[in-house]
Amino acid sequence: TPEQIARYEKIESLVKGFKLPSATYHQVMALWKEEMKNGLGKTTHATADIKMFPSYVRALPEGSERGKFLALDLGGTNFRVLYIDLNGPLADIVSKTYLIPQQVMLGTGEQLFGHVANCVANFIHFTGLEKERSLCLGFTFSFPLVQDGLASARLSKWTKGFRCEGVIGQDVCQLLQQALVKATPVKIDVVAVINDAVGTLMSAAHTDRKCEIGLILGTGCNACYMEKLENVETVSLDDDEPQQVIINTEWGAFGDNGCLDIVRTEYDRELDTYSINPGKQLVEKMIGGMYLGEIVRLTLERLSSEKLIFRGIDHDCDLFNRGKFYTKYLSEIERDNGEFFENTKQILEELGVETYTLEDCKIVKYVCALISARAAFLASAGISTLINSLKRPEVTVAIDGSLYRFHPRFHNLMSLKIQELVDPSYKFKLVLSHDGSGKGAAIVAAVTTHRK
Ligand code: ADP
Repeated sequence: TPEQIARYEKIESLVKGFKLPSATYHQVMALWKEEMKNGLGKTTHATADIKMFPSYVRALPEGSERGKFLALDLGGTNFRVLYIDLNGPLADIVSKTYLIPQQVMLGTGEQLFGHVANCVANFIHFTGLEKERSLCLGFTFSFPLVQDGLASARLSKWTKGFRCEGVIGQDVCQLLQQALVKATPVKIDVVAVINDAVGTLMSAAHTDRKCEIGLILGTGCNACYMEKLENVETVSLDDDEPQQVIINTEWGAFGDNGCLDIVRTEYDRELDTYSINPGKQLVEKMIGGMYLGEIVRLTLERLSSEKLIFRGIDHDCDLFNRGKFYTKYLSEIERDNGEFFENTKQILEELGVETYTLEDCKIVKYVCALISARAAFLASAGISTLINSLKRPEVTVAIDGSLYRFHPRFHNLMSLKIQELVDPSYKFKLVLSHDGSGKGAAIVAAVTTHRK
């Protein structure tokens, strides 16, 4: 009907900002490449948004590493302690997940590391490791770090909802080490600190020699890759073989200088304004799991305020409350195939939306699909930029994070987009890295202690 057509046109005009043409993704790639080069350059690093931190991890695993290690995975929604028995390509893993309460996330550094160390003590008790005289520990700490060595790294800023006092500029290995001494009689040596992207890469590289890129699509978004030493001007690492180092890009901050304003929508701006770090991590806020649900919610809120969906809705319901539309809803809604929209209906009801039509469900799914596709395509633009600069005939990209793991279409969307954006002479493969951020830290610990 004409009324329906007019409605669809209005909706389209309010969501068209999420649909970007191919040329725009190419433009974004050129900017991304430039910013990454700036991050590596001696004179440009200070003002670059993408920090390109050298990780001090120089060698990829051989696949023959062995030994027993503790690993910690801290950097987002869950915090895990792991015990890993590496035996060549095999890895026996025992792990336990702990919660970081909100008041600890926003408390002091002492409280945070005290809590972490107490969880380690609990884990040691739980697994009966008290009999061990000493253990080496690999620490996955997934926030931007300035590394001064493999086991020495200062926090450069908090992201992803953390804001603990007195940690920025401090060596997080030392803070952990000191807290561990207080919490448990078992002697624990913190031998390496890495982030989750590096862990994901190392874990997959353990069994795939072509793996040289690691990507996280979880709470936030970040990537790392193997770079030639000659391209890294910001530190002077010893020039032993291999002449390479894994660079932790911290590319979530891409766009903070305003260069992505061409692609950001009114919804992205509103999300940013109400975040705990306005103006920061702008590309991450278009990709990360911490944000996608809220972008959908803001869009639906706008469509509803224009009376284009949910006519007669009660404005007191959760749909109108910040943070109430979870990113996992996108996965569930986009899994609705066919005409019944079971998942969508259930979620709308959970949100207290009582007046919806099948038409409304269709539009909700459409909005989710647009916002996930834009996220997947932006991540693809970043990965394509890296693949083009690596210039390998074949490369494996190891990916971890709940968004990639559980979203029904993220993998396919990314494969197609990267295929379209990369130089056709490079072949690529996207693989899910199992237990990347836990196992990776143990592998780095194994590679290091083996060398000593
Ligand atoms: P982290 O990145 O914090 O280590 P995860 O990889 O588990 O942890 O990512 C957590 C993020 O993933 C959260 O922001 C959450 O919204 C999102 N998420 C959790 N489950 C799903 C799902 N089924 N589909 C899409 N996103 C999800």
